[in-house]
Amino acid sequence: MGERLIVAQFDLVILGGGSGGYACALRAAQLGKTVALIESGKLGGTCLHRGCIPTKALLHSGEIADSAREASTFGVNAQFLSMDMVAVNAYKDGVINKLHKGLQGLVKSRNITFVEGHGRLVSKDTVEVNGERYTGTNIVLATGSYAKSLPGLEIDGVRVMTSDHATNLNYVPKSVIVLGGGVIGCEFASVWKSFGAEVTIIEGLPHLVALEDESSSKQLERAYRKRGINFELGVRFKSHTVTADGVTVELEDGKTFSADVLLVAVGRGPVSANLGYEEQGITMDRGYVIVDNKCRTNVPGIWAVGDLIPTLQLAHVGFGEGILVAEEICGLSPRPINYDGVPRVTYSEPEVASVGLTTAQAKERGHDVVELNYDLAGNGKAQILRTAGSIKLVSQKNGPVLGIHMVGARVGELLAEAQLIFNWEATADDVAPLIHAHPTLSEAMGEAHMALAGKPLHAHG
Ligand SMILES: Cc1cc2nc3c(=O)[nH]c(=O)nc-3n(C[C@H](O)[C@H](O)[C@H](O)COP(=O)(O)OP(=O)(O)OC[C@H]3O[C@@H](n4cnc5c(N)ncnc54)[C@H](O)[C@@H]3O)c2cc1C
Repeated sequence: MGERLIVAQFDLVILGGGSGGYACALRAAQLGKTVALIESGKLGGTCLHRGCIPTKALLHSGEIADSAREASTFGVNAQFLSMDMVAVNAYKDGVINKLHKGLQGLVKSRNITFVEGHGRLVSKDTVEVNGERYTGTNIVLATGSYAKSLPGLEIDGVRVMTSDHATNLNYVPKSVIVLGGGVIGCEFASVWKSFGAEVTIIEGLPHLVALEDESSSKQLERAYRKRGINFELGVRFKSHTVTADGVTVELEDGKTFSADVLLVAVGRGPVSANLGYEEQGITMDRGYVIVDNKCRTNVPGIWAVGDLIPTLQLAHVGFGEGILVAEEICGLSPRPINYDGVPRVTYSEPEVASVGLTTAQAKERGHDVVELNYDLAGNGKAQILRTAGSIKLVSQKNGPVLGIHMVGARVGELLAEAQLIFNWEATADDVAPLIHAHPTLSEAMGEAHMALAGKPLHAHG
């Protein structure tokens, strides 16, 4: 074996150009560091090409389909005829392509060396790609995650699929079984129902979006029942059979369901196999790279961010971790991330959004908890939109707001304020005097805090 050529020395060599990796690259370059960003697929990763962006475009098409169905309620003469999936995909891909081009331009403009190819960690400071070596004073691992399945549940991409296939489907199935009632499963259930499919969700836990406050899960379940989305809760998948015209699923309680397609949405696992991580002595747990609160691995000079580490699997968490690492490397001593303060959204119809602790978590942590539930029935804009839902506040008695949990159309947008309230440790008394524009959904945030402060305006009782 001959000597391999060292292509170049960088301050940072980043493996993976998804949300975590590219955010780190952009911030480090901004701070004057030399950066190599290595990507085997497309710059932007899961979020841009197979995750956040395509699903939200599909959800928006679904929202328009629902608006057409409900047009007469609002006095508009319109009719829902059918979905044109070629046009839906053209719209969705147009959004992705525009953002992709913008991101490519941004990376170029910051003089980041973008390397296309499959990288592997070959020593504590070197990644090898296409037979060439990239050495970094710092290595940042950002190889992301993949859609998991269950033992024996083979993904064929036709009858049995993951979100990777579902984001690119060129037809609307007549019926769908969604295995997994977490965020991704619920978002696809919502999309397909809006597109006109018969949808059944199978969830092993007792609730949909089980990581949310129980009150939010129950409201989502009520809304889905109203929309005609079927679900089986607290029962596990047993087996499946692919037939010529569909797929049949058997559950552990003996019930069976048949549909055109089965979407497997049982979670995402870290992409870390055969990448040289263990060989370099990096501490791992079930494939995840273990890091401290500054995203440092146990090997000096090697960092890890995004879905590869066992923190919340969200694009904005990847951004935050990427920025944190870049700033720490540059000596800015950024504050560690408070993961409780990360906003979370399930972008279905209705949306579920939250920040901070659930009631159960707040009690577990020993807080003296008070709760307030503000029903969106009292909010003018919610009535105009004809949406149902609520804003629930979890607060420490005579102390800061510990959690905000919302259900309803467009409530994800209210997180901008909710996360300030939580992260600035505001009390109900701090928020109550702030005037909210009328009529907006955000008024409900103000009203909820007014009620919690003991001075409700548009609230009964
Ligand atoms: C259907 C779906 C919907 C989602 N919706 C949302 C949402 O609405 N909001 C939200 O915040 N999050 C959402 N997410 C989650 C979000 O996409 C991820 O949290 C985010 O993409 C994680 O970023 P990352 O950089 O860690 O990993 P990724 O985005 O997965 O990027 C990792 C990159 O590394 C590359 N790579 C891997 N191995 C190698 C290698 N050996 N060499 C070179 N390159 C390599 C991959 O090609 C990939 O591009 C969604 C995910 C899915 C699947």
